[in-house]
Amino acid sequence: MLDKIKMLLEYYGELGFERVPLNCVAGFPAETHVSDVECEAPCQATERDAALKDLRAFIGDCRRCKLSHDRTNIVFGEGSVNARIMFVGEGPGREEDVQARPFVGDAGKLLTRLIEKMSFKREDVYIANIVKCRPPMNRDPREDEIATCFPFLQKQIEIISPQVIVSLGKVAAFTLMGLSGPMTGFSITKIRGKFSDYKGIPLMPTFHPAYLLRNPRDKWLTWEDAQAVLKKLESTGNSV
Ligand code: SF4
Repeated sequence: MLDKIKMLLEYYGELGFERVPLNCVAGFPAETHVSDVECEAPCQATERDAALKDLRAFIGDCRRCKLSHDRTNIVFGEGSVNARIMFVGEGPGREEDVQARPFVGDAGKLLTRLIEKMSFKREDVYIANIVKCRPPMNRDPREDEIATCFPFLQKQIEIISPQVIVSLGKVAAFTLMGLSGPMTGFSITKIRGKFSDYKGIPLMPTFHPAYLLRNPRDKWLTWEDAQAVLKKLESTGNSV
């Protein structure tokens, strides 16, 4: 019995829970007793985790668009299935392509510092990109590539159901705002800091961390945007 409790704690620990409600063992993949009580939030997390795994399996060794030609790895996204904030960039860079993880290069380190300044751990939030394969020479993903890959991210957002989305850079903001066509004239400088909406979820567009590495004087603007996000979370009754 102790072994089973240990397994249960480890399992939920991996999913990011600090405590495990005793009534929530449905879905636990062992011979553990499945109680007949209703499954609440932690079990939803188990379902979300399973749904994300199903989605990753569905994507497989994707060759649906030409970004597959030069990539090393698909960068699916990572973080908590219970994330209240989701950060979305445009696509993996060189380091991300090698490690198969989003935002792990210098820009990623800056993003992690921002997340920590917001009083979260990186593991508390979810981080993903509009496209899951690295565009050659770090160019912007093209319209047809976005159209092919974006539905995967949409499914991830649907599964995780964050309370706020923070888009990082022009491409992510443009796509999540439901815009299409040429991005000429679309300026992140003009739209950042003002909440928009993605399917009913507040969407805060801000600068991409790679831009901030080149323009460190604008970091304070991103910090302003982050503070607006924290206020939004507070207003929904979920303080940090
Ligand atoms: S970018 Fe998306 S659609 Fe294109 S190959 Fe990669 S996973 Fe598939």
